[in-house]
Amino acid sequence: MNSTTIEQLFKFDQNVEVIHSLMESEDLYVVLKVCSTHARCPGCKHLSSRRHSRYARKADDLSVSDRSVHLTILLHKWFCVNAKCEIKIFTERLDWLQPSGRKTTRLEKLIRHIGFSNNCLVAEKVCRKMGISISHDAILYRVKKEVSAPSSYCPFRGD
Ligand SMILES: [Zn+2]
Repeated sequence: MNSTTIEQLFKFDQNVEVIHSLMESEDLYVVLKVCSTHARCPGCKHLSSRRHSRYARKADDLSVSDRSVHLTILLHKWFCVNAKCEIKIFTERLDWLQPSGRKTTRLEKLIRHIGFSNNCLVAEKVCRKMGISISHDAILYRVKKEVSAPSSYCPFRGD
């Protein structure tokens, strides 16, 4: 896989750059850098262009060519520039990874589809075959969470 292909696979948004990748027999490790020039405070919604520091997050993504994909994402913390806001420093929010998520949104979506299509023990086996490391309990948690969320789509409710 050449570097252009790797970049296309992990172009989650316009600010994301692939800065390193390492392919092993069963895993693909990718380091991404988020190059945002500003970020929106999750509290007061003001835009800030004052960077505080850089930090790293780890997350898994959809597998590629039978390899589990492990991302290291370098991004920023920001100062909130609104003097009236209680939040002084905040972490950058990403559309493709929840604030405390350890799996990308697209991987979470796939796991939920598999979880709703099978019982959770079978879903765990399917996930393992696809290079997704997750327990049946974690799949069951996701299914229950979605079923109990009143506003979300659920195939069991017939909506
Ligand atoms: Zn704020």
